[in-house]
Amino acid sequence: MGFSKTYDVIIVGGGLAGLTAALHLSQEGIQTLLIEKYKYPHHKVCGEYISNEVMPYLRSLGVDPFEKGAVEISKFEISSKEGKKVTTQLPLGGFGISRYAMDLLLYDLVKERVDVTFATAERVSFQNNQFSVQTTNRDEYHGKFVLGAFGKRSLLDTTLDRKFMQQKSPWLAVKAHYAVNIPDELVALHNFEGGYCGLSHIETGAVNACYLTSYKSFKRVGSIPGFQKEIMSQNPHLKTFFEHAKLLFEKPLTISQISFEKKLPIVDHIFMIGDSAGLIHPLCGNGMAMAIHGAKLFSELFLQAFRQEQFDREDLEKAYQMKWEETFTSRLQAGRRIQKLLLHPTTAHLGLKMVQTFPSILPKIIKRTHGELLI
Ligand SMILES: Cc1cc2nc3c(=O)[nH]c(=O)nc-3n(C[C@H](O)[C@H](O)[C@H](O)COP(=O)(O)OP(=O)(O)OC[C@H]3O[C@@H](n4cnc5c(N)ncnc54)[C@H](O)[C@@H]3O)c2cc1C
Repeated sequence: MGFSKTYDVIIVGGGLAGLTAALHLSQEGIQTLLIEKYKYPHHKVCGEYISNEVMPYLRSLGVDPFEKGAVEISKFEISSKEGKKVTTQLPLGGFGISRYAMDLLLYDLVKERVDVTFATAERVSFQNNQFSVQTTNRDEYHGKFVLGAFGKRSLLDTTLDRKFMQQKSPWLAVKAHYAVNIPDELVALHNFEGGYCGLSHIETGAVNACYLTSYKSFKRVGSIPGFQKEIMSQNPHLKTFFEHAKLLFEKPLTISQISFEKKLPIVDHIFMIGDSAGLIHPLCGNGMAMAIHGAKLFSELFLQAFRQEQFDREDLEKAYQMKWEETFTSRLQAGRRIQKLLLHPTTAHLGLKMVQTFPSILPKIIKRTHGELLI
């Protein structure tokens, strides 16, 4: 079945990046189609802590997570796998809200202005200055531009033959909500052998626990309950957590093959935003802010170009690539360095000792993985 309408922009993927771009572009009168695989709302594997840097921008789009009960977070605590901990004030702070609520909040605004289709995009082709996007159920959509907002790993990465898909990734992640008491204003990052676990409150009053671990460490036990008890609970803070916390999901959610390899922000004329353009290590707690920021960055450059009577696609691509790299490359590099340091027993021990002795270093490290307030 074919559809004759040609959209200005087709966005593939309706996570934070895709939904934010859909909102921004549609508010400026751009004919937009959003293609998303899953109906809303749904849970996602994520730490669910969002940096405040995106709040002014979200408010300018009419989005207020605090109306949905987002919890203000101002303190950060980090512990070594032996349980030695350091607490600091977060430079900008942030808020806790589940992806279930946050994605739905955006979608409810987007669906008023944007055509949304629930399908899996399988192929994107570019010919005669126009795109066609085919879905697995054989529908075809046409657009002048395509925005790739399909997250960390997608069928489209395979059809686009992206390099990172050829390498196996050593990481998997697990997340669930729990009933338990921790201070509201705190986001904690507790290390364990081969990984780390983030804990923070969300809008329901529950605590989200989300951890990243290497397969190597996980397969020593092989089951989630066993891993949490035998490996993660060697950290006394995680031991206390899992002993007292009541699981609120039927079972935790898991994802695997999480790749932190470099990606390109433009592939076959498709503009990539969010995790499709590059995933920052989760310990930085900045991936969602980067996804939202990426949407702003693209939308502003696109609107500027699209409003000119004649504009050059190649110029826009070059400008986007440059701006993307200027904005995000150093954050991604800092994230890689910190993750390496933290997961090596000797450097993690020394690093934590250093921040215990000189606590003012910690906010400086956090700043390197975050941006300024997005206005
Ligand atoms: C373990 C872990 C913990 C994290 N914790 C945090 C944290 O605490 N704070 C933070 O800021 N960041 C965190 N992140 C990062 C954050 O989750 C991501 O950076 C963020 O979700 C990126 O948003 P996105 O819109 O790019 O991708 P996503 O939110 O993944 O959205 C992509 C969307 O595309 C859809 N899709 C995929 N393929 C197709 C297709 N072919 N057709 C149609 N639709 C498709 C998917 O269904 C999905 O809805 C964490 C990441 C991990 C792995």
